[in-house]
Amino acid sequence: MKRRRIVAGLAAAPWGAAWHATAAEQLPIFDAHVHYSHDAVALVPPKQAVQILRAAGLRGVLVSSSDDEGTQKLLAEAPDLIVPELRPYRTRADTSGWTRDTGIVDYLEARLAKYKYVGIGEFHLYGADAELPVPRRLVALARERGLILHAHSDVDAIDRLFAQWPDARVLWAHSGFEPAQRVREALRRHPRLWCDLAYRNDQADGTLVDAGWRAAFDEFPARFMVGTDTFTPERWHYIGAHAAYSREWIATLPPALAQNLAWRNAEALLRANPPR
Ligand SMILES: [Zn+2]
Repeated sequence: MKRRRIVAGLAAAPWGAAWHATAAEQLPIFDAHVHYSHDAVALVPPKQAVQILRAAGLRGVLVSSSDDEGTQKLLAEAPDLIVPELRPYRTRADTSGWTRDTGIVDYLEARLAKYKYVGIGEFHLYGADAELPVPRRLVALARERGLILHAHSDVDAIDRLFAQWPDARVLWAHSGFEPAQRVREALRRHPRLWCDLAYRNDQADGTLVDAGWRAAFDEFPARFMVGTDTFTPERWHYIGAHAAYSREWIATLPPALAQNLAWRNAEALLRANPPR
């Protein structure tokens, strides 16, 4: 056994490494979790921001911002690249209080009347707060327009969103920071649930994909996508490194699965319909 393993290793290594390097280089990435909030606009102006996105070799970028002006500025600068979604936050401070603030409904209605989006989010919503009037109205607004919901939520809130709107398409931010097994259970329950892997690193250690996550990707090859999550302005300077890191581990997967995770799944969900 030992000898066979050594021989196989010697035979596979040079060819395998070369194939991996080429595959990783050529893999387009769709970054499905970028924010360009007021403080990021001040730190990285729109033209420079688009340069960062293009230098990272991104094929598409799902962007939301507090306030929404950042998203609109990026979209104007790179309409081919930016996929806009509407964050229900006027400033970063709304992150915690929005579920009980009726001013958020006015804000959403005003923005939706003025601009077009593929979704509403990313919003933070946990447990029974999903039943409060403001989140319910957010879901109703998305439903009227056929927009996706991008939810940073626990499993309970995800279940409640689907109870309110069974035909919703929900993108689960950070896969809820749940372990792979719990994510699989949620995906089995909800055929219209997709997951981003933003700001987590348990799916791969370097290029070595975790066995539990690999099983999740194999069971649901069409429902995962990657994202940086620029939740602070400084993280804009990490977008290129994140794309490179994603290419490295994704390129170790079988080619069809790799393409799905890198960009096809995001494109299928986020570019299925034009913004509306
Ligand atoms: Zn985020």
